[in-house]
Amino acid sequence: MSAPSDSTSRFPLAGLSRDGWSTEDEATATCFCGAVQLSFPTSGPGLVETFVCNCNDCRKITASMFASNFTIDDKYLTHVRGRDNLKTFGQSTTVSSGKDMTNYFCSTCGTLMYRVGGAFPGMSILRIGTVDDFALHETKLKPRLELFTNSRVAWFKGVEGAKQLEEGLVPRKKDAQAAPENKL
Ligand SMILES: [Zn+2]
Ligand SMILES: [Zn+2]
Repeated sequence: MSAPSDSTSRFPLAGLSRDGWSTEDEATATCFCGAVQLSFPTSGPGLVETFVCNCNDCRKITASMFASNFTIDDKYLTHVRGRDNLKTFGQSTTVSSGKDMTNYFCSTCGTLMYRVGGAFPGMSILRIGTVDDFALHETKLKPRLELFTNSRVAWFKGVEGAKQLEEGLVPRKKDAQAAPENKL
């Protein structure tokens, strides 16, 4: 364990849980109220990707302008507590691949803990902001990739040093931009 001052800056007061931790190769992610906690590996093969996504879907679901995510192979993801406190909401209408995307929220505080997409079988897409060790946001979890730069808000200049893609990692469903209700 590090010195107290370092520990305070790495684990600032951010939500009600005070039991987040990290080791050389594992760390926790906890919701705002503390009811739900996950643990995950901070390097490969369990850590698959780290990325920022600017898609329209991510704006709405995060109530922000982009999402900062990391993908974990489900074989390496642990639900430390609160799995039965997660609520799900899934749909495929706005997902560019046209496949289902299911969101897992803490039913107490509403924190989006992860998303599971039909286009990414066997993986969960976690949120960098839920990771308790803030030093990891700057290091091992720093986004390596930025998706949907073609829908990035104009006042955000993008993630420095990240590989940029105009769209997502999977091909866009042909009709995604022209859902029946938009054809009227
Ligand atoms: Zn919560
Ligand atoms: Zn997105």
